[in-house]
Amino acid sequence: MAETIFQKIINKEIPADIVYESENVLAFRDINPKAPVHVLIIPKIEIPTVREIIGSEHAALLGEMYDAANQIAIDEGISDDGFRLVFNCGDNGGQEVYHIHMHLLGGRQMKWPPG
Ligand code: AMP
Repeated sequence: MAETIFQKIINKEIPADIVYESENVLAFRDINPKAPVHVLIIPKIEIPTVREIIGSEHAALLGEMYDAANQIAIDEGISDDGFRLVFNCGDNGGQEVYHIHMHLLGGRQMKWPPG
């Protein structure tokens, strides 16, 4: 399968506004932000969609992604007011990039239900 744009960001082949990096997780600002704070949190290993998440195998990695989201929310000053974490999955879910990513959105009131 062709390398995704996020794999190129992991490999530092294309630039991104990186806000967090650890051994297993990378986070950078969305290039087309939908909120005042819009950060994408991704694993460094490629998992195309959340359908490929295997509970025990990926549990620790998902935990790291949620830890990163909480830390970034604090760093960005949106933790106290609240924020939204979203994984889109597949066509109906509106997924465009097939390397799983958690959207961290905040800095404004979110609406429900989402479009
Ligand atoms: P999704 O629709 O859930 O697959 O989200 C993909 C997100 O990646 C969209 O919000 C895009 O704006 C964002 N995106 C695409 N290319 C880049 C890039 N090079 N750097 C940062 N964000 C990107």
